[in-house]
Amino acid sequence: MSKQVLTILGATGSIGVSTLDVVGRHPDRYEVFALSAHRQVEKLAALCLQFRPKIAVVAGEPEAQKLRSLLGGAPEIEVLHGAVALEQIAAAPEVTTVVAAIVGGAGLGSSLAAARTGKRVLLANKEALVMAGDIFIKTLRDSGGVLLPIDSEHNAVFQSLPVGFDYGLKHCSVRKVILTASGGPFRNTPREALRNVTPDQACAHPNWAMGRKISVDSATMMNKGLEVIEASWIFGVGAERIDVLIHPESTIHSMVQYEDGAVLAELGNPDMRTPIAHVLAYPERIASGVGSLDLVKTGKLTFEAPDLERFPCLKLAYDALRAGKNASVTLNAANEEAVAAFLDGKLSFDRIPDVVAECLDCVPGMQLNSLEDILAADQIARQAAHRVLDTCKDPA
Ligand code: NAD
Ligand code: MG
Repeated sequence: MSKQVLTILGATGSIGVSTLDVVGRHPDRYEVFALSAHRQVEKLAALCLQFRPKIAVVAGEPEAQKLRSLLGGAPEIEVLHGAVALEQIAAAPEVTTVVAAIVGGAGLGSSLAAARTGKRVLLANKEALVMAGDIFIKTLRDSGGVLLPIDSEHNAVFQSLPVGFDYGLKHCSVRKVILTASGGPFRNTPREALRNVTPDQACAHPNWAMGRKISVDSATMMNKGLEVIEASWIFGVGAERIDVLIHPESTIHSMVQYEDGAVLAELGNPDMRTPIAHVLAYPERIASGVGSLDLVKTGKLTFEAPDLERFPCLKLAYDALRAGKNASVTLNAANEEAVAAFLDGKLSFDRIPDVVAECLDCVPGMQLNSLEDILAADQIARQAAHRVLDTCKDPA
């Protein structure tokens, strides 16, 4: 067995750290070529000293200088910075496997660079697919690269499909893809109470420990909306064949319903090291450090339909997927800007869906034929979001 050579984009994040935890358990299988972080320089330095990559990438020159001084004892680690360097470590010929775990649209360029150069792309950065799913999948097909989903729902669907499916369920007799959702920390919170929610309350997810942006997305249920769009690209299915089911225990990570009525699912403890280990070793299985699921202790598994009145973001995402053109780009960009404003104390939680909806209304439809078109549409949507945010001087 030859070793997989890894680049981990977003190594200091929740997914990055979980990935390195699994990697550290299997030094015979994995070699770390490069790690990246944005501004968490101390954390990256500690990971570099432990995993000894050849290259480390950070946001800018000041971060690079700081990292170089922290790595004084390891001068062989080359320190680079900026977006071009991220694409360079994603596309490096030595690298077999790229873990794409940067948060938000900032991860698109490097995720695509990995796809373009025929790597195994272990994808957590769902925003890249929401923005550029069509180009992403075409690029992978052309390069011979492989996409393996880390997102727990998509990983569960992937595990519930026949081996060898090819970005499309046409031949698999699938009736529905059913994405489960915990419902987040405000599943039972009345709509009026959502106005005064703080960032820390929104980030206190009942089942999963995650970065702050995805935690807020889980609380608004935009995360599930982004995942519906992500699923449509990975599995080649339309909105009408993707259902969302609230399942507060997060034990069933998603399901596939077949034409004959059979439903296959993947179950486990809610710990991202399981899907990460699955994609790292695929098609083999390796230890991940996750304990055994104890269904007696779990006792009951419960389900309910999502409440689109209290969580309009999910409906906005379905609408954007159906609308096509630049709607998903606008949805994603407006959401990123609104979530950043909320985390910054400049927008109340309950206005996040309003900002996204207003942007979807005011940004005109555009056909997207290239990456340049997508990046331009992203900028237009972010400018629209800033105009809308300027009119919301919240919280009062
Ligand atoms: P996080 O905030 O914990 O980590 C983000 C990482 O990206 C960090 O290493 C950070 O330094 C880096 N980063 C941030 N902004 C950047 C920028 N502008 N340029 C370059 N690098 C930047 O996030 P996370 O929770 O690990 O999530 C990462 C991705 O994985 C997201 O797309 C998220 O939706 C997806 N995901 C996360 C989970 C989870 O359990 N955390 C589950 C499924 C999918
Ligand atoms: Mg998920």
